[in-house]
Parts: sequence; C-alpha cells; structure tokens
Amino acid sequence: MDFIPVNEPLLNGNEKKYLYECIETGWISSEGPFVKEFEEKISSAFGRKYGIAVSSGTAALEVAVQALGIQKGDEVIMPAFTIISCAMAVTKLGAVPVLVDSDMHTWNMNVDEIEAKITPKTKAIMIVHLYGLPVEVDQILALAEKYRLKVIEDAAEMHGQTYKGRPCGSFGDISTFSFYSNKHITTGEGGMVVTDDEKLAQRCRMLRNLCFRKDIRYVHDEISDNYRLTNLQAAVGLAQLERLDEFVKRKREMGKYYTEQLSDIDGLIFPLEKTDYADNIYWVYGIVLDRQIQIDNKEIQKLLAEEGIGSRTFFWCMHEQPVYQQQGFFEGQQYPNAEYLARKGFYIPSGLALTAEQMKRVVEGMHRVMDRI
Ligand SMILES: *Cc1c(COP(=O)(O)O)cnc(C)c1O
Repeated sequence: MDFIPVNEPLLNGNEKKYLYECIETGWISSEGPFVKEFEEKISSAFGRKYGIAVSSGTAALEVAVQALGIQKGDEVIMPAFTIISCAMAVTKLGAVPVLVDSDMHTWNMNVDEIEAKITPKTKAIMIVHLYGLPVEVDQILALAEKYRLKVIEDAAEMHGQTYKGRPCGSFGDISTFSFYSNKHITTGEGGMVVTDDEKLAQRCRMLRNLCFRKDIRYVHDEISDNYRLTNLQAAVGLAQLERLDEFVKRKREMGKYYTEQLSDIDGLIFPLEKTDYADNIYWVYGIVLDRQIQIDNKEIQKLLAEEGIGSRTFFWCMHEQPVYQQQGFFEGQQYPNAEYLARKGFYIPSGLALTAEQMKRVVEGMHRVMDRI
C-alpha cells in the first residue's frame, strides 16, 4: 500500500493556467504583475492596507522585526514553543527572545504570563498562532498599549482564521504569513508581510530587496538580503487564494472527522474544536499523548511509519535549542508545558489533497498503533 504523506497540497484550480501565463509572457521574476496582484489580494483578504511579498515565512518575520527597528539588546516576548524562525528573526539582530510557557488547552502561549516578563528593555511582543487556534489577542493588545510595545503577529498558520470575527493577520503593527507547501495557501515557498502603516510597508520593501537606495540604484546605505518572491510563485498563490474558503471548510471537516473517529482511543489529547473567540481551522491535525502514555512522539512517528502513515513531531522549544544553548541564551530556564508538547505532540496527515480513503487508513492505523502500546 502507498505511504500516506503527512502533507500533500491541492493544486487543481487555476495554478496551471496562471503559471502558463508567466511562461507565455516571459514574466517569471519578482518584477512580474502577479506579485503586485497577490500582495493586493492577500492584504485586502486579511484586512490590511499593504502587502509585501517575500520568499518565505521566515523571511517575512526577519523583514518585519527589522522594519520595526528592533536592535541589539532589545527584548521581544514570544512563546517558548514555536518554530525557530520567530527567535531567529530576533537573535539575528542581536536582540533577545524572552520566552513564555504554553497553554495546555490551545497549545498557544499562555497570555497570562506575559506581563511578568516585561522589563524596561522589552520592545515588542510576538504573537504566534499555532496549529489552528488563535492566541487571545485582545489581552496582548491591551498590554502593548499599556507598556507602549510593538506587536508582531505571526499568522503563518492562520490564513482564513478569525479572532472574534476579525481576520488573523490584521492585529498589531505588522503581521506575517508563510506560503510553504503545508499552509492553507501555498506558493511552494513564499511569504508575505502585511501592515496598515505606510512607512513600515516602505521599509519592508527596501529590506526585501537588498536595501537599494531609491534615488541611485546599486548604492546602499544599509545591508539586507534578497527576499523576493517570483511571479511564478505569485501565480500559484493567486490560484490558491481563490479557493481559501473551500480550503478552510475542508480542513474543518477533516478535523471533525479525525476527532470523531479517534476519540474512542484512550491516552490522546485532541485539538479543541473551538474556543470563546474562534473555531479551529486545523492547520495540521495535532495530537498530544496523555501523561499515562509512556512513549514519546518520536516513537509514535516510527510506529505510524510502519503502518505506512506519515507524521511529524511538534516544534522543539526555543530554550532547548542546542544552537541557543551554545550561545548562552535561556540558561537554566524551564517551560514545562512547552517541553511536554515538544516531546508528546505530533500531527497526522492533514494536507488538502488527502482523500477520504486515506483518512480512513490513518484512523485504522492510529487504532492499531495505540493498541500495541
Ligand atoms: C511555517 C511557519 C513559519 C515559517 O515559514 P517558512 O515559509 O517555512 O519560512 C513561521 N512561523 C510559523 C508559525 C510557521 O508555522
């Protein structure tokens, strides 16, 4: 039987047609017209004035954090449990990530622990919505106002999600998206910074493109990277965006199906279907092993692979990253919930191309694996 990949994107809309147009017209670089169109459509879909397309979600975070003026010695509050892109955007500038433990219900950072972490050096809070449910945004915005902090929102996993009816990607000073192939909308690799602030948007455009000086090309007052998105990628993104509502609906159906079909298994914690302020969009379908289960997520991943089922472990905590330990970050710090999720959390196949037949096989495989342990 075929191996079921953990993620396969769905590319059967207008992707081919728009890509063909790129080839026919010769517009393949970032100068092509689809890039602007994609920026406009993404920013307006998610309630922002400006969109700046970049080469990845990681690049989007780097550009956003730098555009906000975060500098050496500044502190940025963020979850301990997230992808390294969040911390790296901060440490690359010589600034310091200040970590917050996770909430065991939503797997997002525990917003109640943020205020105690604010110091005179704190410049910003990074909101990172994880796995399908948004962070409790209003509480963070209130803190940001009280202490005059900037807010960066990493909405890489949140295309089409809302918080109290408002789109994720519309909160704080600046927000970022990823269009990696396992996100709700993909361009293969790609990302976007969105904001309502014209100056910030201009700054992001500079930072995306080597900081060319506006008056004289090839002359630079500052250094940055080449983070441009190509017209080919934007072509795919536009076709994907046309189907966002359908994709979100599909993900919700998949999430409900998995929870229904797996809930008779003891020892598993499933994603919350909803909170007071949002319904889960199941970026991926995550599962956390209960305390009674002795094995960890790496072993589950192996057992599932023997059943022909792809899976991934959850993120690894920032304070336990070897690279940051070598550099003396986070010494002696502990975040028990984040550590638990990193060791006991995993996700099962949840890409948009997954068929009903494949989902049934995943459910059966999960039952067999859990029976064995
Ligand atoms: C995927 C992801 C990123 C990074 O995006 P890339 O496009 O892979 O660089 C950043 N933050 C979160 C929360 C993500 O899920």
